[in-house]
Amino acid sequence: MNRSSSLIIFTLLLLILLPSTAGRFLVDLAGGVILIIVLIPILLGGISWIGWKVLQAKMIPCEVCGVSSINNSQKCPFCGADKSKTNSQSQSIPASSVTVDITAEDVQ
Ligand SMILES: [Zn+2]
Repeated sequence: MNRSSSLIIFTLLLLILLPSTAGRFLVDLAGGVILIIVLIPILLGGISWIGWKVLQAKMIPCEVCGVSSINNSQKCPFCGADKSKTNSQSQSIPASSVTVDITAEDVQ
């Protein structure tokens, strides 16, 4: 009984407050709060996603142990293997796209 009566009072308060400026202010405030609550995780997610992508671009996996590390040194910090092989692999990607363009020109 208490729950239903409080619910009726709440709905009555909403009906009284909603057309008034105070009600509109509360609705705007709630909308702003909801917007902030929704936007902050999206913004944080976007920033962390961009950060992760930048980190992924800088990280080169080791061919020997498979551990990804930032490409500051030529040697893997975990197993000490030379990472120059993986660097040449990443450089060969634009070269393959160039060959694709040449074959497309040959067809025309
Ligand atoms: Zn390694």
